[in-house]
Amino acid sequence: MSKKEELECSFCKRKKEETNLLIAGIDAHICDKCIEQAHGIVVEETVAEKNEKASSEFLVKKPIEIKDFLDQYIIGQNHSKKVMSVAVYNHYKRLLQKPNSKDDDIEIEKSNIILVGETGTGKTLIAKTIARMLNVPFAIVDATVLTEAGYVGEDVETILTRLLQAADYKVDKAEKGIVFIDEIDKIARKSDNPSITRDVSGEGVQQALLKLLEGTIVNVPPKGGRKHPDQKFVEVDTQNILFIAGGAFSGIDKVISKRLNMQAVGYSASISDDKIDEENLLQYIIPSDLKTFGLIPEIIGRLPALTYMKPLDKKTLRSILTEPKNALIKQYKKLFEMDGIEFSIDNRALDFIVDRAVEYKLGARGLRSLCEEILTDAMFELPSSEESKLKVTKKYAENKLTKATIKKLKAVS
Ligand code: ADP
Repeated sequence: MSKKEELECSFCKRKKEETNLLIAGIDAHICDKCIEQAHGIVVEETVAEKNEKASSEFLVKKPIEIKDFLDQYIIGQNHSKKVMSVAVYNHYKRLLQKPNSKDDDIEIEKSNIILVGETGTGKTLIAKTIARMLNVPFAIVDATVLTEAGYVGEDVETILTRLLQAADYKVDKAEKGIVFIDEIDKIARKSDNPSITRDVSGEGVQQALLKLLEGTIVNVPPKGGRKHPDQKFVEVDTQNILFIAGGAFSGIDKVISKRLNMQAVGYSASISDDKIDEENLLQYIIPSDLKTFGLIPEIIGRLPALTYMKPLDKKTLRSILTEPKNALIKQYKKLFEMDGIEFSIDNRALDFIVDRAVEYKLGARGLRSLCEEILTDAMFELPSSEESKLKVTKKYAENKLTKATIKKLKAVS
């Protein structure tokens, strides 16, 4: 045997003739298969390290940085953004504290959040944006479908099914996720009188939710619902899951107004010194108003960060159209750009859209429907045409938006 034929890979011991390539080092050789395998390991490790870094990055974000991030996507709502930033920061500080928690007796409590505000004011958007920033799984659930176990509807545990799904069934990831519970006001007790007969859809659900909010180990049906009776339950600890509840609490302004008026004639006339802003009573909301509305005190106690969303005025709606990082107009610009079409819309057309949204009470969600109505023809025709520019003027918008289409939008919203 010649010396050349004896060469082998120093890692897998394959002989040279069994390899496609054998590369010589100073004192060793490596074959193509080992190189590939080693490369795979390097890539895997780097990705894992990157992911780990990404998922631990949230720990270093300070409240001001959190708010700066929110500012890129959400117009106005400064009070809410501030409260949320602090609550989220404290929540994740609490997670950081965990490994050493035996060293001291101070246990930082969970800072679940409750957002009160009309529909379409950005409650879901705020929660979603926070989840995006933190790079954690996020699930939205609707409180109206929840019932007490045993009743028709979904059991409260299925809230966590959604979160598990969002976390690709990785329990440890889900356990650090964020759940947005929408329409929490719909499970309020119908009366403030606790002696009233229990209503299954209200107080019962609140009691069931309570355990989840507090932090407990829940047996979660991974496929959800009761349609899969054979599924194996997965244990999920809700201790570190951040819950954000949102609701319109329609009529709560009257509760607030009544309380404020009573305070004004009583001793604790704190706000009466300042002028009460009747237009936006939500800004004076306090936890006891939620109790009067019908949430049980224990639930309110488990949602300690209470904040409100301002109704959207014309100026805000106008900004929503063009300013956020992924503002509607920016999205249309990009869509047209992909077809080589330069899209622009003038200020008067933008004002026209906002005016219609306000006039027909379509809110921020209506902005999108209005834009779609105005631009559908162009989006249909222009990609097949020679046209390289689309300039939307007020007149153009007016032509596309007949009274009939607005009526239709109003019916849908
Ligand atoms: P809610 O949960 O309060 O009903 P959403 O968060 O679903 O409202 O808001 C509906 C849509 O309106 C969002 O997708 C977003 O495009 C827009 N929107 C509402 N408020 C704002 C805001 N303050 N800044 C930017 N966009 C907003």
